[in-house]
Amino acid sequence: MKKQYDVIIVGAGVAGCFTALHLPPDRQILMITKEGIEECDSYLAQGGICVLKDPSDYDAFFEDTMKAGHYENRKESVDCMIRSSKGVIEELMEIGVDFARNPDGSLEFTREGAHSTNRILHHEDITGQEITTHLQAAVKKLPNVEIHEYTRMVDLLTQNNRCDGIVVIDSDGKLVTVFASHVLLATGGIGGIYENSTNYPSLTGDSLALCLKHNIRLEHVNYVQIHPTTFYSEKKERRFLVSESVRGEGATLLDKNGNRFTNELLPRDLLTAEILKQMEKDHTKYVHLNMMAITKFDIAKRFPHIVEHCLECGIDPKKEYVPVVPAQHYFMGGIHVDLNSHTSMDHLYASGETCCNGVHGKNRLASNSLLESLVFAKNAAEHMILIDGQRAWEGRQPRFIKNTDKSLSELADIYGFDPDWLLDTKEEDEENKQLIWDEIDRENAL
Ligand SMILES: Cc1cc2nc3c(=O)[nH]c(=O)nc-3n(C[C@H](O)[C@H](O)[C@H](O)COP(=O)(O)OP(=O)(O)OC[C@H]3O[C@@H](n4cnc5c(N)ncnc54)[C@H](O)[C@@H]3O)c2cc1C
Repeated sequence: MKKQYDVIIVGAGVAGCFTALHLPPDRQILMITKEGIEECDSYLAQGGICVLKDPSDYDAFFEDTMKAGHYENRKESVDCMIRSSKGVIEELMEIGVDFARNPDGSLEFTREGAHSTNRILHHEDITGQEITTHLQAAVKKLPNVEIHEYTRMVDLLTQNNRCDGIVVIDSDGKLVTVFASHVLLATGGIGGIYENSTNYPSLTGDSLALCLKHNIRLEHVNYVQIHPTTFYSEKKERRFLVSESVRGEGATLLDKNGNRFTNELLPRDLLTAEILKQMEKDHTKYVHLNMMAITKFDIAKRFPHIVEHCLECGIDPKKEYVPVVPAQHYFMGGIHVDLNSHTSMDHLYASGETCCNGVHGKNRLASNSLLESLVFAKNAAEHMILIDGQRAWEGRQPRFIKNTDKSLSELADIYGFDPDWLLDTKEEDEENKQLIWDEIDRENAL
């Protein structure tokens, strides 16, 4: 790892990768991941990715997103996401992403809860894997991007509301400072701080905790989405998602007596409440999902990975009900950013699930997050290019240049961090988790 780069990208999910792909080839980029590169929620996305399939769908797409978000969404962000969607999908297809097609070759649009029409593109039930493997492969080909896996960001280098870089524990366990003109936080969600979540446990909202420590503005940290249908298991493990598109295609939800008790296509928060109510009434730990109600196609072909998971757990969804329970799934709040994905701190950007650009309001509409992550990751890259252009025109040197050759202890004094404490990741994890929970409680109390 070098001492300085033009851009540091923390995270290699769809958000981190799309920013890297939109930066010019003359920028030196460092990309780091906490675990292996495949351990990110982007790989897990099942249902699909929304797109404005036709200009005539603009109003309905806008309204569906706003309605799901309880009209707390930032309208300009929703508008930006919808208008940029077609271009982003075309870019994905250009790098080889394969979306399902109809027999005549046209793109196949599916539907999920709270969508008034079919506008979701998918690749079987592993859309995230299809998109992320192509994005990561494209980034790996870029000679200007250095990827370091098992490299964990543990602090930000900040002075006078300006970000100069980050502190990491590298793959050898060494504490290292790295400087950059711009830092992008693309560290994903916060499921790792919950007992039951569909997210990877390593995604513990590290960026949020650092923003709290450095007085960087957060927004709606208490807006957390619970997914209504995850596979029920007695084991303590990441909860397996049974995608909303299963219900979108006709699966029904049944109580302990096998009776339907709700509209399966309600927005996620409302459906979760209905399921929890039913579980309480029935004194059960789960409700039943009846995938046998899907008759228009073979569920093993349309949802091969969901069916496979159920079979591995001893349930045959073609013959039996699938036990499902709500679990933490998505984080609508996060680091406050503007339309350029810029945070309240100079030279610090955030995109993807860790940020809050206001697209989702109080509740995310299904399949809007991959799209939102990509659109605003691209915006971040474009804004960095703009800022660099201004700086070059003004003939300014990177502001941190005087610090790059200083020792770790000198930098610890300048930037105010404690190297020994940062190396104790167990204690840091506990403190970070508590900081985020306190912030969630504080916002809930408002
Ligand atoms: C089971 C499941 C199904 C989903 N289905 C859909 C769907 O169908 N459609 C949809 O639109 N959305 C879906 N989502 C949501 C969507 O996948 C995520 O919101 C999106 O992929 C987030 O992308 P990201 O790039 O922000 O984060 P991620 O892809 O999670 O990447 C986070 C990155 O940050 C890195 N990182 C974290 N902390 C640190 C640190 N301290 N130091 C260094 N690196 C760090 C990680 O290593 C990782 O590389 C689903 C999510 C889940 C969990």
